[in-house]
Amino acid sequence: RADASMLQARKLGRDRLHFFDPAMQQALEQRVGLEARLRRAIPEQLRLHYQPQVDAGGRVLGAEVLVRWQDPEQGLISPAAFIPLAEASGLILPMGQWILRAACEQLRCWEDDPALRGLSLAVNVSARQFQQADFVEQVVETLQQSGANPRWLKLEITESLLCEHLDQVVATMTRLKAVGLQFSLDDFGTGFSSLSYLKRLPFDQLKIDQSFVRDLEVDEHDAAIVRTIIALGRSLGLEVIAEGVETGTARDFLAAHGCECYQGYYFARPMPIAEIEGWLSAGSGG
Ligand code: C2E
Ligand code: MG
Ligand code: MG
Ligand code: MG
Repeated sequence: RADASMLQARKLGRDRLHFFDPAMQQALEQRVGLEARLRRAIPEQLRLHYQPQVDAGGRVLGAEVLVRWQDPEQGLISPAAFIPLAEASGLILPMGQWILRAACEQLRCWEDDPALRGLSLAVNVSARQFQQADFVEQVVETLQQSGANPRWLKLEITESLLCEHLDQVVATMTRLKAVGLQFSLDDFGTGFSSLSYLKRLPFDQLKIDQSFVRDLEVDEHDAAIVRTIIALGRSLGLEVIAEGVETGTARDFLAAHGCECYQGYYFARPMPIAEIEGWLSAGSGG
């Protein structure tokens, strides 16, 4: 069988890469096809959804910006299905730039509305995007061109960024902090990096990963981890936000242990812009 495939591969020519395993070949072709479709989808088929973030009193502080892909055939595709491919292919760079610009333009619009002014937007930034040599310039230019107040922009980065080139990360963050924006450490607790970076990096917020929040009520280990993260964040002077809060019981537990901010289906799901503006204007969806 292997010989037959090899012969066929030869027949097809030397300059083309062929896998001898048809399943592997098919997987590769599927991936290349998806990548080509994603490339054409940016930015027209990208949609942004916004998920509210609230404080312990239920007051809305702002929202996280979450991207979706509106595919003409498949419908709304979740970021879990295309962000990894976007990262591997480099498409995350133009995509990330478009998302940042859209978020800044949204912030600028909100300045004109008394009900929406002063709400923050948290934008997810991939490691690859953050590591671009001109990332600071890109952000500064986007803020200037959109006219957004940097004070209301928060960048969410994950621990994976902190494994290597820590000095570079510190330098980039410090320059962006000087511009006036904020940083949140997303999915905290799922990475492997040492705790010492928390002291060195100018984060404003620690975001407890939803995997610990989900089973808080039934898993005493998760409950212990959450309590510990809240205590750690607070002792370092960081604001602590929990993601994936789905029940009132989880919210009460988090509040009792000093968590200051919340995001999750218990409060609201991610929504398109028109919906969230209505939700926000109505005062936390009331
Ligand atoms: P993330 O940044 O940790 O975002 C939180 C995810 O949890 C979102 O999924 C959100 O819809 C979901 N979520 C929020 N509340 C709840 C809840 O109560 N229960 C449950 N089960 N889930 C909840 P989403 O929108 O599918 O995004 C998944 C991930 O994709 C994000 O995780 C982020 O890593 C990535 N992503 C999304 N948008 C962007 C983006 O604009 N740029 C980049 N680089 N990554 C993005
Ligand atoms: Mg996030
Ligand atoms: Mg997160
Ligand atoms: Mg997460």
